[in-house]
Amino acid sequence: MRGLMQDFPLTIDAIFRHVEQHYGDGTIATNSPTGVTKVTYAEWAERTRKLGGVLDTLGISAEGRVGTFGWNSQRHLELYFAAPSSGRILHTLNIRLFPEQLTYIANHAEDEVVFVDRSVLPLFWPLVDTMKTVQHVVIMDDGSDNEIPDDPRISDYEALLAEASPVEFHVEDENSAASMCYTSGTTGNPKGVVYSHRSTFLHTMGVLMPNAFGLSIRDVAMPVVPMFHANAWGIAQAAPAAGASLVMPGPMMQPEALARLILDEGVTFTAGVPTIWQGVLPHLAGKPHKLRDIGCGGSAVPKALSEAYREQVGLPILQAWGMTETHPVASSGILPPRFDDLDDEGKAAQRARAGIPFLGVEARIVDSETLEPQPWDDQATGELQVRGPWCAKDYYNPDAGVELTTEDGWMRTGDVAAMDSFGSIRIADRTKDLIKSGGEWISSVDLENAIMSHPKVKEAAVVGIPHPKWDERPLACVVLREGETATEEEILEYLKPLIAKWWMPDAVEFIDEVPKTSVGKFSKKDLRSRFAEYAPKS
Ligand code: ADP
Repeated sequence: MRGLMQDFPLTIDAIFRHVEQHYGDGTIATNSPTGVTKVTYAEWAERTRKLGGVLDTLGISAEGRVGTFGWNSQRHLELYFAAPSSGRILHTLNIRLFPEQLTYIANHAEDEVVFVDRSVLPLFWPLVDTMKTVQHVVIMDDGSDNEIPDDPRISDYEALLAEASPVEFHVEDENSAASMCYTSGTTGNPKGVVYSHRSTFLHTMGVLMPNAFGLSIRDVAMPVVPMFHANAWGIAQAAPAAGASLVMPGPMMQPEALARLILDEGVTFTAGVPTIWQGVLPHLAGKPHKLRDIGCGGSAVPKALSEAYREQVGLPILQAWGMTETHPVASSGILPPRFDDLDDEGKAAQRARAGIPFLGVEARIVDSETLEPQPWDDQATGELQVRGPWCAKDYYNPDAGVELTTEDGWMRTGDVAAMDSFGSIRIADRTKDLIKSGGEWISSVDLENAIMSHPKVKEAAVVGIPHPKWDERPLACVVLREGETATEEEILEYLKPLIAKWWMPDAVEFIDEVPKTSVGKFSKKDLRSRFAEYAPKS
C-alpha cells in the first residue's frame, strides 16, 4: 500500500515563498567600505522576483548556468534564490582560486552570465575572454571605485533590476539541479558538485535542527564562511527559511570589521573556518555580545581555540564537519548531557569531535580498500564514508578515474576517523595528511592540537617529511604569538607528557605564517613542497 500524502516537491522556490509570506520584516544587513545597508525580506523578495525577470531579459536559457563572483551580500542572496527558483542553475565561483582554475571551472560548467562584485572585478575581468560561454557580465557595485571597462558584455545590476518586471517562480521537479559548486582538489582538476532542489531543501532543514545550528526567527545569523564556497554552509538558505535576520560581511573581511559587525548588529549565530576565529578573538574578548553559538569547521578546530573562546568570549566553539560533497554540513559536535559532569578539559576534548551525523546522514568507518567495517571503539580508525539525501553520488562530468561512490553506495570522504560507541565521529586526519612512520599512522591533527595548546604558539601545522628508515617523520611548522620567542627544545619538552614518544616531531621549524588555501585552511601541500628537501635526523 502506498502512503496517501501529497507528493509535494521540495524546491527552493517553496522556501522563497515561505520567507516572502511570513518573514517580511526580517532584515538583511550588508557591510561595505561605505557602511552597512539594510533591506527587509519583503524588499529582498520583490528584488529577487525582478532578478528572475533580469535573467529572462538577458536570455539565459532554461537550465542556464548563472555564475557568481562575489562576497557574502544581499545581492548574492538574491541570486541564490532567483537563479534556481527560475529553473536556472546557480554556479558560485570561488574568487580566491587561481586564474587557470577559474577559467577551467567556468568553461566546464558552461556559465552563460557571471554576476561580479565591483571590488573583485580586477580578478575576474582579465579572464573573461578565456571563458567561452560567458555572454554577459553584470556588475554589482559594492562600494569600490574599481574602473568598469567599456564593453558591450557589461551591464549594471541595479540598472537591470530597475527596468525588470517581477516573475512567478515554479519548479516542478525536486530532483532537478539547483546549484553547482566546485571543490578545489589538491590533485587534478576541480570537481563539480551539483546540488538538487530536494537536497538543498533537506540540507536546509538539517542545519536548522537544534543539534546543528538551531536557527529560529529570534536569531541574527552572520555567515562568515563564504557564499562562493560550499554554499556558506547552508546558512544563506537556512537563516531566511527560519525567518532569522542575516548579517553579511561583504568585502569587509578584516578581523576587526567582523568583530565590530557581530557586536553592532547583535549577531547571535555565526560560522567560519578556524583561521577566521583565530583572528577575530582579540577583538571580541571581554566585550558584551549576544552570540549564542560560533560554528566552526572546514578543517580541524584546535581545542585551544575553542577553550580560548570559552574563557575570553564566554562560549566555546561549536564544531561542525562536512565537505562540498555533503552540501556541506553533515555532523556537529554539540555536547551530549552525558558529559555534563566532566571537568573543563574533558568537555573540551569532547567538543573537539566532529560529533553525531545529522538525521538524514549515515556514517561508517571502513578499511578504504576492502571496505571492512572498523569497530566503534574510538581507537580504530578507517575511512569515513557517508550516505544520505544530501550526499553527492557523482561529480559533474568527472575526469576519467575519479570515483566518489563505493560499489555498495557510500560516499568516500577521504577523511580518516574513529567513532565512539554512540557513533560520534572524531576526525583523525585527511588521508593525504596522515604521516606514515615505521608502518604506523600519526595524526597530524592530534599533534597540531597538542602544539597549539602551548601558550606561546599561535598556529602549528604538522607535515610528513620523507625519511630513509621510517618512511616519513613529522615536522612541526610553528608560528609564535607576536612578541614571543621559543626554542625547538622548549616545544618538544612541552609535548613529552602529551603525546606518544614515537609521535615526537623530528624537528620544529619556526615560520612567519602557515600558508593558507583559497578558503583559509592550512595548506599542507605548500608546506610539504617547501620542506621537501628537509634533511631528516637519523
Ligand atoms: P576543500 O577544502 O578540499 O576545497 P571542502 O571545503 O569541501 O573542500 O573541505 C572538506 C574537508 O574539510 C573535509 O573532507 C575534511 O578533511 C575537512 N574538514 C571539514 N570539517 C572538519 C572538521 N570539523 N574537522 C576536521 N576536518 C574537517
